[in-house]
Amino acid sequence: MATDIDFYEVLGVDRSASEKEVRKAYRKLARKCHPDVNPDDPDAEQRFKEISQAYEVLSDKQKRKDYDRFGREYQQYRRQSGAQPGGPAMDFGDFVFTNFGAGNFADIFGDLFGQMHTSGGRAHRYAAQMQPEPGPNIEHQMPTSFAEAFTGTEKVLNLRIADRCPECEGVGGLTETCPDCGGTGRSRGGGMRGFGGVCPRCQGSGKTVIGKCPKCGGGGEVARDRKITVKIPAGVKTGSKVRIAGEGGRGVRGGQNGDLHLIMNVEPHTFFERDGDDVNITVPITFVEAALGAKISVPTPEGPVSLKVPAGTRSGQKFRLKGRGFPRVGRNGRGNQHVTVQIAMPAKLSAKQRKAVEELKEVWDEDPRKGLPTGL
Ligand SMILES: [Zn+2]
Ligand SMILES: [Zn+2]
Repeated sequence: MATDIDFYEVLGVDRSASEKEVRKAYRKLARKCHPDVNPDDPDAEQRFKEISQAYEVLSDKQKRKDYDRFGREYQQYRRQSGAQPGGPAMDFGDFVFTNFGAGNFADIFGDLFGQMHTSGGRAHRYAAQMQPEPGPNIEHQMPTSFAEAFTGTEKVLNLRIADRCPECEGVGGLTETCPDCGGTGRSRGGGMRGFGGVCPRCQGSGKTVIGKCPKCGGGGEVARDRKITVKIPAGVKTGSKVRIAGEGGRGVRGGQNGDLHLIMNVEPHTFFERDGDDVNITVPITFVEAALGAKISVPTPEGPVSLKVPAGTRSGQKFRLKGRGFPRVGRNGRGNQHVTVQIAMPAKLSAKQRKAVEELKEVWDEDPRKGLPTGL
């Protein structure tokens, strides 16, 4: 992916947009640009990817903070930190020579990495003194067919989750107690280096980094493949969120696992149109059926239903089939189906039909344009 894409621009939101505004913009765009909705537009897929990527970053507090800090260099930062599963791991030696410079580099990981060049000694687990931290919630786009959304379904998901590395707990490096200050973070005073202030070697953290984590290669994340069977309730809509508790990112230091949020993306149907929990369909009828009235068979998601069209029905007239729409998620009852009838005229009449219509013309002396003005 190119690095010159502005995620805020992609989602069309201000840099100050709230989490809610970001989510709203994303949903609107995702619905509009979903490749399934635009099968003939080759750009739709690329655009949808950009939207998803922008949302992935801007919806995550930490990632957004990093993005705000690095702007268009963010992709590079992510790649170099090995944060994308399967991506190359960060090489600490090279990292300080990137555009961020050594100063910013310390900012990325906090004081802990302020002194990358220190080395030697036995590793201590940096995290031992820290609080349990819950795992992040993970959002996953879930394409669903119209029929599956109607009936509900069960799906098997193969997910690759980027967990915080269990070895370094997401920090990316192994640390030891600072040999200069013995872990106090305060300079021992005297000598040339300090005057009783902040220890210059560890910059007050009390820890020095002795190398990158062997498990995650310094990226702080490891990929985990999960096979999860999920139940999609009947009646879900595009944008509906189905929460699977405990299937998100792993918590560290005994923290709870995050949740998996499935964001539904319901494919449109060729004939049925969805409107909330209601379903719309347009059904053709003949002029004769409209004039004389008829009992017609109308498709519904569950199969044909008989509808009585009264004599004198107009083209465009709507009829309601109560309770034939989508089940209402989390509530009782169902939506309705609305049937719009459209008087269909054959392009060509048979000789017999033509004769009958011509006879009709003789007796049809009503003027439907009576009462219309002749002009302005
Ligand atoms: Zn690690
Ligand atoms: Zn120190």
